[in-house]
Formats: sequence, structure tokens, C-alpha cells
Amino acid sequence: MQEMKLDGNAIGGLLREIFTVEMTAARGTCASCGAVNELGRVQVYLHAPGTVVRCPDCEQVLMKIVRSGGRYWVDLTGTRCLEFGEG
Ligand SMILES: [Zn+2]
Repeated sequence: MQEMKLDGNAIGGLLREIFTVEMTAARGTCASCGAVNELGRVQVYLHAPGTVVRCPDCEQVLMKIVRSGGRYWVDLTGTRCLEFGEG
């Protein structure tokens, strides 16, 4: 399977559809290594129909997002905490 690796800005639009607020500045805590990274810094692998987001520190999967037929499946197993909002 061929993957296209991108940075976190690649999922800015997708996350915006789901969370309805700007998410590239949101911070996610890796459930594996505990690193806290802004979503703009994570590693993104696009391979239809899913998107895989990996921790830039330990490369464990932080989240998997599948979009199909107007519905979303968001697997946050690898994200211990997701912090976002204004300020
Ligand atoms: Zn990690």
C-alpha cells in the first residue's frame, strides 16, 4: 500500500469538519510516550479512505480517521488527552 506522508496541517480541514473549531493548534498527549504535540506537528499518513496520525516522538498511532458517506469514524485510542479551544 502506498502511503503519502504529510505534516499535521494536512488534517486541518478534516478536523475542522469534525470539531468545528480550529484544531491545528490543539494539543494531543500521546498515550504511548506521553509527549504533547500540537496537531500541526504530528505525522500524517493519507491512504484512502482513512487517515493515520502518528506521534512525531515515538511514531505510535495517535488517531485514525475514516470518512465515508458523510459519516466519520474517529479512533483516539492512541491519544490520552486532546486539548483545544480558545486562548
Ligand atoms: Zn509518542
